Amino acid sequence: MTQSNTTPMMNQYLRIKSKYKDALLFYRMGDFYELFFEDAEIASAALNITLTKRGKHKNLDIPMCGVPYHSSENYLNNLIRQGHRVAVCEQLEKPEEAKKRGYKAVVNRDVVRLITPGTLTEDMLLHQKKNNFLMCLNSIENLFGAAWIDISTGEFNVTSFKADGLNSFLIRVSPSEVIMSSKDKELINSKEYDDIFTTTTLSDQTFNPGYSKKKLEFFFNTRSLEVFGTFNNSELTAMGALVSYIESTQCGNQPVIEKPKKENTDFILRIDGASRKNLELTQTLAGESKGSLLSIINRTVTNGGARLLESRLRCPSLDIGEINSRLCVIDYFLQNTDKSFDSIDVLKVLPDIQRSVARLSLRRGSSKDLLNVRNTLNSMNSLTEIFSGDNEPDSVTEILDKFKGFDDLFNLLDRALIIKKSEDIGNDYVIKNGFDPQLDNLRKLKSESQSVLILLQKKYSDLTGVSSLKIKFNNVLGYFIETPIAHKKTMQDDRFSEILIHRQTTVNCIRFTTPELSTHAEQLLNAQETAADLELEIIETIRKNIIGESTKLNNAATGLSELDLYTSLALLSKTLGWVRPLVDDSRTFNIKQGRHPVVEAFLTSSSEQFVANDCDLTPKNQSILLLTGPNMAGKSTFLRQNALITILAQMGSYVPAEKAHIGVVNQIFSRVGASDNLAKGQSTFMVEMLETATILNQADEATLIIMDEIGRGTSTYDGLSIAWACLEHIHNKIKCRTLFATHYHELTQISNYLANVKNAKVAIKEWKDEVIFLHQVQYGKADKSYGIQVAKLAGLPKPVLDRSLEILKKLEKDASFLEASSQISQQLSDTRPTKVNDKNETDSSESTRKALECFEQLSQISTDDITPKDALLLLDELVKKTKEVF
Ligand code: ATP
Repeated sequence: MTQSNTTPMMNQYLRIKSKYKDALLFYRMGDFYELFFEDAEIASAALNITLTKRGKHKNLDIPMCGVPYHSSENYLNNLIRQGHRVAVCEQLEKPEEAKKRGYKAVVNRDVVRLITPGTLTEDMLLHQKKNNFLMCLNSIENLFGAAWIDISTGEFNVTSFKADGLNSFLIRVSPSEVIMSSKDKELINSKEYDDIFTTTTLSDQTFNPGYSKKKLEFFFNTRSLEVFGTFNNSELTAMGALVSYIESTQCGNQPVIEKPKKENTDFILRIDGASRKNLELTQTLAGESKGSLLSIINRTVTNGGARLLESRLRCPSLDIGEINSRLCVIDYFLQNTDKSFDSIDVLKVLPDIQRSVARLSLRRGSSKDLLNVRNTLNSMNSLTEIFSGDNEPDSVTEILDKFKGFDDLFNLLDRALIIKKSEDIGNDYVIKNGFDPQLDNLRKLKSESQSVLILLQKKYSDLTGVSSLKIKFNNVLGYFIETPIAHKKTMQDDRFSEILIHRQTTVNCIRFTTPELSTHAEQLLNAQETAADLELEIIETIRKNIIGESTKLNNAATGLSELDLYTSLALLSKTLGWVRPLVDDSRTFNIKQGRHPVVEAFLTSSSEQFVANDCDLTPKNQSILLLTGPNMAGKSTFLRQNALITILAQMGSYVPAEKAHIGVVNQIFSRVGASDNLAKGQSTFMVEMLETATILNQADEATLIIMDEIGRGTSTYDGLSIAWACLEHIHNKIKCRTLFATHYHELTQISNYLANVKNAKVAIKEWKDEVIFLHQVQYGKADKSYGIQVAKLAGLPKPVLDRSLEILKKLEKDASFLEASSQISQQLSDTRPTKVNDKNETDSSESTRKALECFEQLSQISTDDITPKDALLLLDELVKKTKEVF
């Protein structure tokens, strides 16, 4: 796309830009990245920097803006966060080399990297304690294949699932960028995920299983992918397209990517998007990290440990063997607290080796990254020493084994790298003196030449009598003699005209050179350049040695993260008094004195006590607890704490309780509180019903359901009916462990005829017209909601409170049909001397059902439409039924 009427440089720009139309082109010009045309307009607005112009194109000014190379990361960070993609175009040769091709030759440039949200590697652009996943989704018929890579750590995963698992999967992995075909983009409502990831659409041809297979075999240098496992076509396609995309963004640099790990979704506790949000696992409903479960349990001291913890919390396991083996490791560290503390001391100063290795593989590493590897290997030796090797369980030995086999690499790095700058020569050096004799010689030559310059400076100062004379260096003149301008006359005296050659006069000083200075300067510059080139060569050899061991290094890094995770969870449990849960394949759910970890932490910080509560959802006792209680009593807290305890147990952590026995749960659904999604055109009630529909359609017998205040977003009767029917459906059809909180006290009647429902309430005490919250969960049903008392606590004006009481009394007098049904039901229970909530409760269920049927039939009569004959028949039926009951 060369333009004949434009400058050669602009031609080069336009040619490169034409290949990166969907990215902002950062075009390197000396110490700046310049942006032109529309890119300049977008970037100047996004970064709030000045928009100027440079030259003309087709007779119009070319808009331009620029950012300094040295602080470009800040600007990049800003642009990427705003969802832009940036193509970084560098100068590939020095301007002097270009000049050799002719006076007007343009410096060679090309894009060296396409920066997108999912391909970041710089510490500054990344969240230290979170993975940054790039994902590829590909659907073949109803099966989605998903592959996701964090190129800043090398982690590579792949899985597949049916379309109904897409939402929970995307929310769980939370990638920052997802690539897909245009066909899939139409299928997936990617707008719904706008606040989680950006979507990149690639041509449909990119998604081809045959091509993908070949691509992957070539990438991993293997004859057959089967060595990594078996993959279906949708998985293969997603993996191949992902790797191709990464290659295209890295422009020839190959990142370290681990072999793909196939994730078996059958072994992962499924938590859908809404439930994950409601339970505030990794962030609160307000979107903050503080106050989430993660913020409470995170006591890790390394970035890798924190990332592993978050990943475990995001996907608790269903594999009882795996869960128990994780719990065994925590046991070990609890029993060996000295070793835990010693390990933490070593771990807490560790750098982020995974990210250093990733940067080194992409040639973006610095000398600090080399040192990070050396220091980590050193620490791994110290960690191995902490453990005696006698009494560790296998799972701990497995971790320690990951630290073995690095002697040669450690020796190389230890011999080669300067550990502390101040202890060695020159601040710019990376390689130690004594490592390479040739480098030592060049450095000696360089320092000798430097000494000669010091002697020369003294010589010229004595000669001219100008004591302020200095020998200095800059990029334009090289080495030169400089004196303040005041000495101009002396310096240009005839006596020195044979020796001093004038180079430059500035406002403040005057500069000269001499043939002798030029000779020495050249020697010095040569030695300097050759030494620098040789040092770079040595660094490159070391880098290759590191990359050669990258798989082992990443494995060792995982070991370090695991050690951090387990020691931190062990100490967390010790500090907070958590216990090891019993997790098995039963349907038991029995938690003694459970606590809500976040609410407890909050109360503890203000010296208040959390009230622990039991929860038994074991089917042989009752699988459904129907919880009533006043506002503010602690219903939601109780519901959530049991879900959180389950999640903690299944991720392999101790739990906040005195005792916990959990038969493994396969899915958790949590419908808590009311929220709307106006941006997506969904009202509060609609959101509630959508979430409820998901639960009722997807839950099965091994699921745990938490339902709080279902049916509150509509009229009382509509809401109550929906809540009632949902509860019946869960009891009769799904038959899973369920916690159901409600303010509809009428609903407690359901336990009269549903055998597995038991009523529970959160106790309060009334004292002088005040309510005291005891936060104790007891069997039985609450008598009222105390909403007006809670409103009083909240500070509603007295006239409003008084009027509310007045209205409440009036409403209570106007008994509705449902209240009447509840009274009848109560009468029925009273006529039979059974204890409420006793197993015998079910004896009265038949009579209650009949009574309720009568009321339901009556309520459905339309007096305008019924014929006299039908009315008589109905009356007859009702009379018969009533007689059976009384
Ligand atoms: P509402 O019906 O109004 O939604 P609720 O019954 O669901 O109220 P929660 O939101 O669970 O009540 O609890 C209200 C507050 O009570 C919590 O923020 C917490 O401070 C306190 N609380 C709840 N449970 C306990 C407990 N077990 N021990 C101590 N304090 C608690």
